[in-house]
Amino acid sequence: MPWHSLCSRGGLKRMARKRIVIIGSNFAGFTAAVALKGLLRSAHDVTVISRFDQFVFHPSLIRLPFGARTAQQAAFPVRPTFAEQGIAFRDEGALKLDLAGHKVITPTTEERYDFLVIATGAKPNYGAVPGLGPRGYTQSIMTLAEAEQARGAFETFLKAPGPVVIGDVQDSSCRQPAYEFLLNMERVLDQRGLSSQVPLTHLTSGPKLAAEGLNVIANAAVAEISPRQIRLADGRTLPFAYSMLLPSFLGVDVVRACEKITDAAGFVRVNAFNQTDAHPEVFAAGAAVAAGPPEKSGWLAEKMGLRVAKNIAACISGEALACAEPPETVNLPASPIALDDGWIIPGAEAGWAQGAFERYFPVGGTPLS
Ligand SMILES: Cc1cc2nc3c(=O)[nH]c(=O)nc-3n(C[C@H](O)[C@H](O)[C@H](O)COP(=O)(O)OP(=O)(O)OC[C@H]3O[C@@H](n4cnc5c(N)ncnc54)[C@H](O)[C@@H]3O)c2cc1C
Repeated sequence: MPWHSLCSRGGLKRMARKRIVIIGSNFAGFTAAVALKGLLRSAHDVTVISRFDQFVFHPSLIRLPFGARTAQQAAFPVRPTFAEQGIAFRDEGALKLDLAGHKVITPTTEERYDFLVIATGAKPNYGAVPGLGPRGYTQSIMTLAEAEQARGAFETFLKAPGPVVIGDVQDSSCRQPAYEFLLNMERVLDQRGLSSQVPLTHLTSGPKLAAEGLNVIANAAVAEISPRQIRLADGRTLPFAYSMLLPSFLGVDVVRACEKITDAAGFVRVNAFNQTDAHPEVFAAGAAVAAGPPEKSGWLAEKMGLRVAKNIAACISGEALACAEPPETVNLPASPIALDDGWIIPGAEAGWAQGAFERYFPVGGTPLS
């Protein structure tokens, strides 16, 4: 049923107290929650359910393994902001979505909703390549814990340096952070006087990016990874002493189980209002949304979170809904910033912008749009 017909049925226009439940508290979920509460004030209830009580600023995870950021700089607790804004917070994972019954089931409760926002991000699909990821033989920086593990592995590597392979595997929609990680690695090796003894390779499933003096293997597929060797699908092998490869993604399990609203990979299919057609009271934002290229980004997640907040408020008040205006391709500033056309904004200029973002989100300000 289209969104406008849901609104025009009349029931939602009458402003009875509504319960909005948001799953996820990072770029999309945090933004949606704060914006919604700002729009609805105390007239309706906003509850966030998230299995992690920290907002993780992923661009900082690119620097953390090199000691240029700490975990405290890369994340902040969401609880104080939510408490200040009157947003209820449940620090636990959603186990099941009962879309027919309008309930989110967690280990301790069943949270009833009138509107649901799915902002659960994406799940790294390490299983797609044998040996890939932190439980295999390569590093990753998708989470704070993984970035800290990558940092420990980097310190071990420095004691016995050898070939380094950085990049992404086939079907990854997260190539740009790997490229930025590669440039940081290049700079750090140079600063430590290791450039001449450490062969550095950019291995990517995408096209060759601008990088002089680097060994680049583009449009590649990885067949298997063993303790110190990557075997490509074309039979070539790459030895490594340190490797960071970003994976492909799936929707998180609890969302993937809802086949009525998801695609084959478990991402939520939404219309231009970020709303599911099968359940008009269910919205999705951020990396949880089924979308083709460009890469999923924090900036886009934030824009979607804001749109969802406006649309839920509009539905409650019976106003017109806001529609996506493609293409939406802008990224949050990271350090350095790699642009689509291969240009790089170097660390010095990008660094202050990143610092500003790190300070900006904890105060719960209205997101940039
Ligand atoms: C290293 C790295 C660098 C990046 N750099 C940039 C950059 O420079 N610029 C840019 O624009 N983008 C960047 N990105 C991409 C950006 O971080 C993501 O697109 C963004 O995090 C997506 O936001 P999201 O809120 O949709 O999902 P996420 O940030 O993944 O948040 C998902 C939320 O859902 C919660 N959750 C998940 N499952 C459940 C469950 N079952 N129950 C309850 N809660 C759950 C999690 O706890 C979390 O709060 C980078 C990504 C990485 C990994």
